[in-house]
Amino acid sequence: MDLFEYQGKQYFARYGIAVSPGDIADTVDQAVAVAERVGYPVVVKAQVKVGGRGKAGGVKLAANVEEVRLHAGNILGLDIKGHVVRRLWIERSSDIAKEYYASFTLDRLNKVHLGMLSAQGGVEIEVVAEENPEAIAFLSIDPVHGLDLATARRWVNEAELDEVAREQAATLLVHLYECYTHGDCDLAEINPLILTPDNKVHALDAKVTLDENASFRHPEWEEFRATEFDDPREKMAKEKGLNYIGLDGTVGIIANGAGLAMSTLDVVNQVGGTAANFLDIGGGANADVMAAALEVINADPKVKAIFVNIFGGITRVDDVAHGVLEALGRVSIASPIVLRLDGTNAVEGRAILAPHLSASLITEPTMMDAARRAVSLAKA
Ligand code: GDP
Ligand code: MN
Repeated sequence: MDLFEYQGKQYFARYGIAVSPGDIADTVDQAVAVAERVGYPVVVKAQVKVGGRGKAGGVKLAANVEEVRLHAGNILGLDIKGHVVRRLWIERSSDIAKEYYASFTLDRLNKVHLGMLSAQGGVEIEVVAEENPEAIAFLSIDPVHGLDLATARRWVNEAELDEVAREQAATLLVHLYECYTHGDCDLAEINPLILTPDNKVHALDAKVTLDENASFRHPEWEEFRATEFDDPREKMAKEKGLNYIGLDGTVGIIANGAGLAMSTLDVVNQVGGTAANFLDIGGGANADVMAAALEVINADPKVKAIFVNIFGGITRVDDVAHGVLEALGRVSIASPIVLRLDGTNAVEGRAILAPHLSASLITEPTMMDAARRAVSLAKA
């Protein structure tokens, strides 16, 4: 689960990481109230789960009440890379002497934690990595040993942070590592981590991804979950226990297994179509799961055709076929359904469906054929 910046900062604060005082606002009047409380100048910041808000006009300094009204009014409702701004974070503006970058994430290949630190923050780290790779100090951290202060001190030296920032930054990095590990993050990133003209180091931005596999030990994540869904389709899918991600295309997709679901998106793209979603029904292709999957996809007004791609392994295709028929008895589906059924008991499965086939329930022998058919139906 990705957090909004303001939630990430709340999370950081629990681990003793310095952030600017501020509060959220959902209206222009609320924004003014927060600004009056925290004191001018303030920064008005769009809360969307996507980077590059600054460049998109979603981060503005305001020196007085008129400027808060102006910027809050402009930023609320702004579309930033497909994310519409519904909430602002207003915080006391900081003076910036230097912008650094710091993050922890998992190095899956080497089975260690990976810290990245750079004296060249503020810009996207991918850009730094491309244009000036030696400006990033990488640190591999054995999860058993963790990150101690002595190592953090060597790291800030290696990254050549300004002398006055080093001790504070080292302490902050140890706290950030605590947040990342004990806080069960997949990613904890601060960009920019700033040095102020009066030599204070603190986090000006927060990008946090929580590891959902650890949610059982974090009942406090519920408050974050309440704001999780910008997308009503994803909310509906979550309520039905489905592994669904909404996309913008016209071909609804149901597949068993994440790998097959991703390949299905690729094949749809390859034959000139666009996927409306990712949906992995896993091993549970029974009628309940199939009905839930079809309902979620059916509720998406952009969907013009549905591609059900099942490769039976442990999941048996005859079970899937029964599931599809039972689901169709329960929900009425607006778009034609194209099925590709292969693997365990595929022959039996196709035989079960055979008497029910029509212009709106179609089977195709291969994944490629099914993709072509679904895409052409979506364009018809
Ligand atoms: P992002 O563009 O989504 O990464 O949003 P950030 O929170 O990183 O803000 C973008 C940029 O706005 C930062 O790199 C800063 O240069 C600038 N900015 C953000 N907060 C402040 C602030 O308090 N004071 C000043 N002077 N600039 C700020
Ligand atoms: Mn940033």
